[in-house]
Amino acid sequence: MPYIDLHPHDLELDVWLKQPENRVDVPGDAELACLQDINLGAVDVIPEALFFRRHAGQDELWAAALSHDAPGKPREDQLATAYKQGRVACADSQGTRATGAEILFRALTAARHGHVWPEAFREGPLITESAHRRIVGELEAEIDRHRREAEAQSQAPIIAMARKLGLRPEPAGASPSAWYADCPGKSHRLMISSSSNQFGCGYCRVKGDTAELEALVKQRKEARS
Ligand SMILES: [Zn+2]
Repeated sequence: MPYIDLHPHDLELDVWLKQPENRVDVPGDAELACLQDINLGAVDVIPEALFFRRHAGQDELWAAALSHDAPGKPREDQLATAYKQGRVACADSQGTRATGAEILFRALTAARHGHVWPEAFREGPLITESAHRRIVGELEAEIDRHRREAEAQSQAPIIAMARKLGLRPEPAGASPSAWYADCPGKSHRLMISSSSNQFGCGYCRVKGDTAELEALVKQRKEARS
């Protein structure tokens, strides 16, 4: 059996469809990989269709966020009423089409952790119910392991500082040193690394070390008063 790389180095992800070239309609030659329900956080659960396309040596995964009444309808109707669709992942082709779809599904699901998570499997055929359960289960086990490893670094200077500043740090699960904390004065969360003692907020485009986190909190408090 040829070696299958679950984390291909040439993998490209555009999970939130930020690139205009990926924000296009699912091509007609993309086949259904699976239909699943995804949890968007809180109580929002919607159906999502994932499509797979093998083209010119590349594997692509396409996602379409569907309306609640879309499942069961013909594909054209589902896509015509989709909230959002586009190419979310691609990499060099590997193995069978099912293997290629599973690799990209795993990468997509891992990258969306913390924002979007599979809630239920509806139908295949390319990603089967057992493959879906196995991949989601493996990712959940990995996230749990990372959280426990991060917990062991809860005395890292930047984590201790974030706690002292009331930013409610908690292990994120993305890696053994990834933490979330409240972005000071904002309603979103920033990321902290307990191994490098650095923080960063992708929304605010700020980053820095322990002292800079303390300074940011101070600066935002002053801006509000
Ligand atoms: Zn922020």
